[in-house]
Formats: sequence, C-alpha cells, structure tokens
Amino acid sequence: MEPYRIKTVESIPFTTRAEREAALLASGYNVFSIPSDLITIDLLTDSGTSAMSDRQWAALMTGDESYAGSRNYFRFEETVRRITGYDHIIPTHQGRVAENLLFTTVVKEGDHVPNNIHFDTTQANIEHNGGVAVNCVIDDAYDPVKEVPYKGNMDITKLDKVLADVGRDRIPLVLLTITNNSGGGQPVGLDNAREVSEWCRKHDIPFIYDACRFAENAYFNKVRSNLDQGIPEIARAFFDLADGCTMSAKKDALVNMGGWLALNDDELSEKITNMLILIEGFPTYGGLAGRDLEAIAQGLEEVLEERYLAHRVGQIQEFGRALCDAGVPIVLPVGGHAVYIDAKRFLPHIPQEQFPAQALTCALYLEGGIRGCEIGGLMFAADGQWPELELVRLAVPRRVYTKSHLDHVVDVCAKLYSERESISGLRITYEAPVLRHFTVRLEPVD
Ligand SMILES: *Cc1c(COP(=O)(O)O)cnc(C)c1O
Repeated sequence: MEPYRIKTVESIPFTTRAEREAALLASGYNVFSIPSDLITIDLLTDSGTSAMSDRQWAALMTGDESYAGSRNYFRFEETVRRITGYDHIIPTHQGRVAENLLFTTVVKEGDHVPNNIHFDTTQANIEHNGGVAVNCVIDDAYDPVKEVPYKGNMDITKLDKVLADVGRDRIPLVLLTITNNSGGGQPVGLDNAREVSEWCRKHDIPFIYDACRFAENAYFNKVRSNLDQGIPEIARAFFDLADGCTMSAKKDALVNMGGWLALNDDELSEKITNMLILIEGFPTYGGLAGRDLEAIAQGLEEVLEERYLAHRVGQIQEFGRALCDAGVPIVLPVGGHAVYIDAKRFLPHIPQEQFPAQALTCALYLEGGIRGCEIGGLMFAADGQWPELELVRLAVPRRVYTKSHLDHVVDVCAKLYSERESISGLRITYEAPVLRHFTVRLEPVD
C-alpha cells in the first residue's frame, strides 16, 4: 500500500468522448498539443510531475531568498554531498543545464562520449558541442522480451571498441545513466558500475553518472542482488566509483524543478562555476529560488526511504503485471518509472510508416483520456532509417496516482486490445525540421 496518506487533493478532468474527439482533431493527433485540462490520467512523463510531501511544502516557507549565501543552499549542499560524497555541488534549474555546463567545458569537436544509452537532451548537448554520443549498452537491452536483472548495464567490450577506434584523447569522459531512461528505465548493477569505473581509471578517463533515478537504481540493486546495506549506502557505493554526476531533481529529488552538477575536480568545478554565474546565477542559487533548494534537500531524504521506493517501484511492477495479465504486449522486464507498450505487437496490421505507436497513443486518449508518449518512428525515424521499436511509454509520476487510476489505464488498454483491428494508422500533414514529435500534425489514414 501507499506509505503515505492524502492531505491535499487536486481534482482531475473528466471529459466526454465527443470532447476528446474534438481535442484530438484540434491537436493534429499529437497529444503534446492537448491542454492538460483535457487529460484525465497524464502519463506523458515522470519528470517534474511528482507530488511534494507536507514536509517539502513546509520547507518552502523556510526559503531564504538572499542573493548570496542562502542557508537553503547550505542544507542542499550538505545533503547532496552526504549522499554522493562529491566535493563541489553546483545547483542548476534543471538537468540539461548541468549537462550543458559540463559538455561545453570538456567536449571538443570530434570527441566521443560513451554512455549506456544517452538521454535525448544529453545526446543533443554533446552533439551541440561537436561531439559524438555513443551508446554502449549490452545487446540484451535491445530485446523487448528478454528478462535480465540489469538490462541497463554497459558492455565493456563496446567501450574497448570506442577506445580502439578514436583513442584515449578523443574520449573526454564516460557517462553511465542510472537507471537507463532511454532503454526503458532499466537498472545498472553495482558490479557493472565497478567495471566501468575500473576501465575509466585504467585509461585515466573521468567517469560521470547521469544520476536522475539513482534511488530507484539503488533499490533495484538491493532487491535483485539481495544486498544487506540500506538504500543510502548502496547509492553511495555507486557514487564512490565515479568522479561526479549530473542530476535532474525533477526525477529522484521529488520536486517540480531543479538539478545539479556534482564534481570532485577542483579546476573543472571552478571553470564551470564561472560559467554558471554567466548563464544560471550565483553559485548559491544557480537558477533556483532558496525555497526550491530546501524542497530538493527534503525530497532527497524522502526518496531514499526504502518503503517509499518499495511502493514506487512496486507500483510500476504491478501496473506492468496487470497489463501482461490482460494480454497487452509490453517490454519486459518492467523498469523503474514507466511501462512501455509494444505497439508493433499490439497493432501488427499497421505498417511502421503509419506510426503504430502514435496511433495507439491517440487511441488511449480517445478511449480513456489517458496521455502516454510515443517512442518510435515519429520521434526517431530520420533519413529513411526507422527505429527497431515502436513503443508507447506510460510514465508514472511519483506519489500522484493510486492503484484505481492505474486500473483504469489497464482496463482501457485491455478494451483497445480486444478492438485493435479498428485502430487505423496515421500520416503526417505537418512536421518541423528537428524534434518533430513535439509539434507534428497528423491525420488518420482512411
Ligand atoms: C530528465 C533527464 C535528463 C534531463 O533533465 P531535465 O531536468 O529534463 O533537463 C537527463 N538525463 C536523464 C536520464 C533524464 O531522465
């Protein structure tokens, strides 16, 4: 059961089918363009959508909005340093700014940056600096039904290959994303992180985590490797292996906005702090209000509670199991923050050129007022190359929805699956030259 009770509620919109039909038509069959007031269950993302606790809301009232030296910064710094062990804690207003600060400082034209799988903003920030983002996740990660405990692991032989291809001087750092968001929220095992760390030490290359879901990753390790240590100790064991991390506090810090960059390197931190002052703000607020820093510090205490994580990860596992039981094809094993429906298996009659995952995303909205996110051809197809998988991601915000909300989603998915032949494909009527999925417009194929 939920390890919390509800003290404040927000009503959610209920709409008629006619209203949803009109909204879908007006949006050009693109759920990014539907106002949230017309969404009943919003599973578009788990980013910045968490519910804060009473203690976090109370923390906001202790905001010290001094330009310099705010006491909230010191609590934030102390908390992040205690959890990660890193020396320099640089606040930012969200994760991609931490990435931007790091990559503009260390990535040069032609550099290669390995990761298990780069998140889209990470890849974009590397490429923006002339670098090449290389995915080195184990091959199993690309098999949608193979059940391995740590499907987010790095393949060390792929790191060796990058090194052999470009040489040590063209690899400014190695990243490891925990959990591996773009690979389905799959965890990375502690042994694998240790191997990556040893590889980086051997070749004298800095090792940095993309740590957005570090607590969920620690929980998976506790359960799947039967570890005796508590969650903070497991998380710390990961951080001890690396030289720093980037973080979006919109994930495992249980707040709606925020992030940081944490580093051990003095010289690098000094350079980046000077850049921070230029683009984000003074080092004791970095684009955030004092109260925001306090809410992050409090959120970090709560996210490491084992009973919180048992419910959080357990809710997603149960959601996935219920979909499986209803016969809905999903990606297995279920990751930490979302369930991914396999649209190729759900809608085998729709060819990939007609965007089956987007067709299913629209059907979920029309049938149940549910907003998911297409992760398939609409997002990734480029220059005639189509992605392997056509997925609909149902990301679950933290502490927001109860079991009956997710039961509704399962019921809607099951109903659509039984009527799947009636769902038709889509074709594009407008697309932007880059990141088209945000603004694309489509229409049904007759
Ligand atoms: C969300 C996310 C980011 C970017 O963080 P923002 O706060 O959205 O800028 C980077 N990496 C991963 C793995 C993420 O999930």
